[in-house]
Amino acid sequence: MLSVKNIFKNYEKQPLLCGVSFDVQQGETVCLLGRSGSGKSTILRIIAGIEEPKSGSVFWDTQDLKDVPVHKRQFGFMFQDYALFPHKNVYENVAFGLRMQNLENKDIYDRVQDVLSKVKMEKFSHRLVADLSGGEQQRVALARALAPEPRLLMLDEPLGALDRTLREQLMDELRLLLHETKIPAIYVTHDQEEAFTIGDRLILLNAGKIVQDASPFVVYKKPANSWVSEFLGLTNLINGKILTLDPLVVQTIFGEIVVITELPENIHQGDEVMVLFRPDALLVEENQLNKFQALITDDVFLGNQWRVKMMISDIEFSFIVDTPINTGSQILVSFNPELINVLQE
Ligand code: ADP
Ligand code: MG
Repeated sequence: MLSVKNIFKNYEKQPLLCGVSFDVQQGETVCLLGRSGSGKSTILRIIAGIEEPKSGSVFWDTQDLKDVPVHKRQFGFMFQDYALFPHKNVYENVAFGLRMQNLENKDIYDRVQDVLSKVKMEKFSHRLVADLSGGEQQRVALARALAPEPRLLMLDEPLGALDRTLREQLMDELRLLLHETKIPAIYVTHDQEEAFTIGDRLILLNAGKIVQDASPFVVYKKPANSWVSEFLGLTNLINGKILTLDPLVVQTIFGEIVVITELPENIHQGDEVMVLFRPDALLVEENQLNKFQALITDDVFLGNQWRVKMMISDIEFSFIVDTPINTGSQILVSFNPELINVLQE
């Protein structure tokens, strides 16, 4: 099991990582999520041993890896820019890491065939990498990372360069493959859809710190703060102040809002908070609570549902609804108190 403990790292005196800690358990795929430039690749390089932290440590079980060189860590890597040898064939690319281990030719052959069949590329072993499509090259890159049977796999935005259709297809295949091989993996991405598809657990990185480490379900239902919420595309946010805790009432620019959801820990009366109205919180039918006057500014048909934008007290909010509401209508709306979250800022 991998343990990253309290990592600090600066670049040109600017702090990049400020106390990053997390674990990866056996058989688990962890997605490390954060905006571009937040230090995700740097964390992987530190785990790999290519780069040194300013302080903090990386453990495998009880062993501190400080003095273990890169090639002895038994970690596999897969990058966005494949890093394959274009003028070698698929077989030679996958065999590369195995030749470094001085394995017998017969064993190398068996291992290469096995991983190529895992990524559905067994028929391509004599093809030059330069003659493969982007998606096929990515499969070869994955086979090469898997071939030496690493005890941890690190994937750095592996699908970032592919178009949408191919990305979606490979995402599903990768998820199945990672579960099937049971190799613990750290999957880095800035794409929340990818993270939700692939991760058993999500680790969200912002401003050098881990702001949430939880299952995709928990992250979506209970974002730790307004940054996580906005990162997930949950942007119906306003400032508020806790008036009473039981019942939970928050004072906002809209007026008083009644909330019936679990509170974050350590919230007290009088605290400044953020109030999140979930995309499905809008009730068009009459409801006693949380009633406000709204002007509909946009409506878009999405297939089964509609997305409506509206102004309430000069703030624009967006909701998903089951029945259309026409742009331009001035209506009374209310919000389901069970679909409102109170977040720490
Ligand atoms: P991410 O993978 O999340 O996009 P990175 O870990 O690649 O982020 O980089 C984070 C920041 O650190 C970037 O702003 C980058 O410019 C800076 N950085 C990364 N590597 C170096 C380096 N070797 N020297 C100086 N700055 C670096
Ligand atoms: Mg990166």
